[in-house]
Amino acid sequence: MPFTSRTAHLKPEGAYQVLARANQLEAAGKDIIHLEIGQPDYATFANVSEAGIDAIRSGKTRYTSPAGMPPLREAIAEDAGRRRGIKVLPEEVIVSPGGKPNLFFPTLALVEPGDEVIYPDPGFPTYEAMIRVAGGVPVAVPLLETNQFSFALEEFDRLVNEHTRLIILNSPSNPTGGVMPPTDLEHIAAQAERFDCWLMSDEIYTRLVYDGRIAPSIAALPGMQARTIIVDGFSKTYSMTGWRLGFGIMPQTLAERVELLLTHSLGSTAHFTQFAGLEAIQGPQEAVQQMVREYQHHRDVIVDGLNVIPGFTCQRPQGAFYAFPNITGTGLESSALANLILDQAGVALLPGSAFGAYGEGYLRLSYANSIENIEAGLNRIRKAIESL
Ligand code: PLP
Repeated sequence: MPFTSRTAHLKPEGAYQVLARANQLEAAGKDIIHLEIGQPDYATFANVSEAGIDAIRSGKTRYTSPAGMPPLREAIAEDAGRRRGIKVLPEEVIVSPGGKPNLFFPTLALVEPGDEVIYPDPGFPTYEAMIRVAGGVPVAVPLLETNQFSFALEEFDRLVNEHTRLIILNSPSNPTGGVMPPTDLEHIAAQAERFDCWLMSDEIYTRLVYDGRIAPSIAALPGMQARTIIVDGFSKTYSMTGWRLGFGIMPQTLAERVELLLTHSLGSTAHFTQFAGLEAIQGPQEAVQQMVREYQHHRDVIVDGLNVIPGFTCQRPQGAFYAFPNITGTGLESSALANLILDQAGVALLPGSAFGAYGEGYLRLSYANSIENIEAGLNRIRKAIESL
């Protein structure tokens, strides 16, 4: 049966494919270390889980307003605005089950068939998928290692034009861990203004930054908030991937369109999950700070360990929880190397090519895992490579 052109291009996310293969090997008795999936190995913080459980016990199990319950929209507006140095109104906040609907629905609301959409490559695979579902033309801008994986600005300048409707940014980045510097954001903002484009700033990793840095938001630059959708959520910051809670911040007229798309598709975000989210924001933040300190240590261990593997070189990423080593020195393609490491070393990780053509020559390893697993994984990879 033929499927529509809107959906015929869709492919599974690489991380889930590798996870399925790794699970098969595990079921067959093989010991696998999982460094493929982008989710924290921390349990959801206890105060947050308790708030969710209390909410279920007290009957917070009903539909809510599609855009989210007012106290949560207010809390997000205050917290997310303060952290970025911008003023956000509750009406500009759309709560959703995870951040993903706030990537997808604004794209559907803004992109007409044939409109061009600029997105980062290597980048989160959902970007290309949602651009194509909207009928847009995906235009990949490379993230270059030589530029600490920020946008290649000359290439960007060549590609942005009057047909560009939307520019997608992701800082800190999945899969590279790169953080875009203010000067690059200023350059992109000037082009967005010149060609009158929307900006979508995926800031889901914004709290996971190291060495005392911050990841600036393009929305905080003069005039940019009026053309920017900020996408953020609770999955990574509060270790809540399975609760499904995220949000978008956007001009109110766009928020109203996105609310209608939510109304007619997902309906609303789970009621009790929103209470857990309220506690996550309003409760103590020490657990987040502690987690970030630990991730920074994990980052240092994994980067140092990768840099002594023959054929690997790895920059020290500034954010998120991924290492993205250059593996061109091994002479192998990234998918062949990822398969070899899974089969021979029992370590599941992702080929850079799962994130776009410019990801070839790299692997992605998640270090949101225990130090023991990271060290054991590094040892196994080194031995497998040394025995080639
Ligand atoms: N954006 C990026 C770059 C991600 O890596 C992810 C998750 O892996 C998301 C958005 C969506 O996360 P969620 O839907 O769990 O909020």
